[in-house]
Amino acid sequence: MKKLQLRIVFLFLAIFSLFSLVFSMTTTQLMEERSIEQQGEDLRAQLTTLTSQLNGMIGPQSDLASLNGRMQRTADAVNERVTLIDLEGNVVFDSHADSSTLDNHGNRPEVSAVLNQGEVGRDVRTSATTGKQLYYVAQPLFSEVGTRVGVLRLSKPIDEMEEVISQVQRYLLLFVFVSLLLAVLFTAYWTRELSRPISEIGRVAQRLSNQQYDARYTDRSYEEIDALGQAVNELADNLESQMQEITQNDEQMRELINHLIIGVMLLDNDRNVQIVNPAMSEILEMDLYAGVGRPYVEVIKSYGITTLIEDAYRTHQTQNDEISLFEVDNKVLDANVVPIAGDHPGEVNFIVLLYDITEIRRLEKVRTDFVANASHELRTPVTALKGFTETLLDGAMEDKEILVEFLTIMHKESIRLDSMVRDILQLSKLEHRTVQMEIETISIREIVEATFQIVRQKAESKEISLEIEEKTPVEIEGDENLLKQILLNLINNAVTYTPEKGYVKVALGVEGDEAVIHVEDNGIGIPEDEQSRVFERFYRVDKARSRNAGGTGLGLSIVKYLVENFNGSISLDSKIGLGTTFTVHLPLKRKNEQKDKKDEL
Ligand code: ADP
Repeated sequence: MKKLQLRIVFLFLAIFSLFSLVFSMTTTQLMEERSIEQQGEDLRAQLTTLTSQLNGMIGPQSDLASLNGRMQRTADAVNERVTLIDLEGNVVFDSHADSSTLDNHGNRPEVSAVLNQGEVGRDVRTSATTGKQLYYVAQPLFSEVGTRVGVLRLSKPIDEMEEVISQVQRYLLLFVFVSLLLAVLFTAYWTRELSRPISEIGRVAQRLSNQQYDARYTDRSYEEIDALGQAVNELADNLESQMQEITQNDEQMRELINHLIIGVMLLDNDRNVQIVNPAMSEILEMDLYAGVGRPYVEVIKSYGITTLIEDAYRTHQTQNDEISLFEVDNKVLDANVVPIAGDHPGEVNFIVLLYDITEIRRLEKVRTDFVANASHELRTPVTALKGFTETLLDGAMEDKEILVEFLTIMHKESIRLDSMVRDILQLSKLEHRTVQMEIETISIREIVEATFQIVRQKAESKEISLEIEEKTPVEIEGDENLLKQILLNLINNAVTYTPEKGYVKVALGVEGDEAVIHVEDNGIGIPEDEQSRVFERFYRVDKARSRNAGGTGLGLSIVKYLVENFNGSISLDSKIGLGTTFTVHLPLKRKNEQKDKKDEL
């Protein structure tokens, strides 16, 4: 049984017991009183009968003792104690005692009441003679002339009633016991009925505090308790939707942080790592999740970053610096440490933000190098032109032979200068994405054939055969001019770097949703360690040979740009002395969003 239930039952029990006790006591007492009264009445009626029989039997002066014989018979007949007392209070006759041994009875309350002219005297007391509780009734005895001559008293032990009363008390007790039992059972049932929904509400509240937000009160009981249950349910609804919102926000925030390309790390007031995102682990190239909850110095080993963080802790100011990680791939990071409010008043947390700017710095370097390289490359033909013109002007032009030779060199240099400027401009346009694209369906074979036309003369002069192999017609969507540039560069290189009597073969095919173009030659080949560099600007395997062949060193970088713009890829396979194959993969169809964008590089 539960506490509330116990309390109610005990309270009910106590009140009921108290009332039962008072009731049984009052009833017993009333019964006793009534019984005594009744007995008194009976005794009195008996006495009245006796006195009426004895009245007038003696004269005014006669001795009361003359009645003794009759008294004895009367006493035998009524079977009660009969006492005859004279007007002085002396006992003349007593059916149960020797009258001579008895003291004066004038002061007995019932006797004195009659001696004092009362009609009847009553008393209940414990008899000094018998030691029992007796009821005494006395009435005057009259002479034949109507004067009082004595007092006749009847007495009767009243303990005969105790048996009846105790029986009644037993019944009363039984009745009280049964009633109590029933009352306890009823109260227990009722309080249980009452406390069950309350306990249910308590359980719901408990589950809610244990973060089980789907807990609801579903019981049906008393209106007031149901209203309480409904209030708890509404609370649970609000709690659940708020928790959902919080979880959703939390998830969104987590998603956001996890997908940032910037490395994020949250440090608490005690320099422990609280949150870290995947980008951070990627940038520092180590698994930082194991470090969550631990001091940051255990996970960040870079002196530059730790110094920056310590500066932030010291000054409570945002710190920013560019940090080179020599230990991790020479990465260059833009690092920020930002103070934010801590979990408790007076505390400060810090967000460490790392942005990998290695690529940006690399591209910057590429650009600077490009300018330096371009200037250098341009200077060579310009210097040659300047030198030859000066020599000619200094008089060499008088010699016709030298004049023709020099002018031929100058012409060649000016052509190289022209093609270099054109390539630089093309690259610059590609970089600034200002090349307009006309998207159409192009037959690759047609372009290859057109390109062969351009290089045919050069190929024929070296007796190089130009072959085309197409298993199925290959058509792609794209800009014809740009594809022409790609193929011209590759085929021209193949012819340039293939010795006499060699061959250049272009094979076309389809793999999945891509067109595949192989430009194969059996030329000088490219050394393995330089293969990855041939796409760099101004990179030439053999500078002198390339220059003699009119190369600028920019052709393959332009090709790479263009192929990437087609969303394709380029690779090469080469063996020194055996030949080179450039393989270009281009998607057959342009992606929709690219189509719509019309159409800038
Ligand atoms: P270039 O104008 O010098 O040809 P490219 O960018 O077109 O410049 O080529 C870069 C370098 O790659 C060339 O200088 C050459 O050394 C090498 N190369 C390109 N294509 C071939 C090829 N088919 N066979 C051998 N070497 C090649």
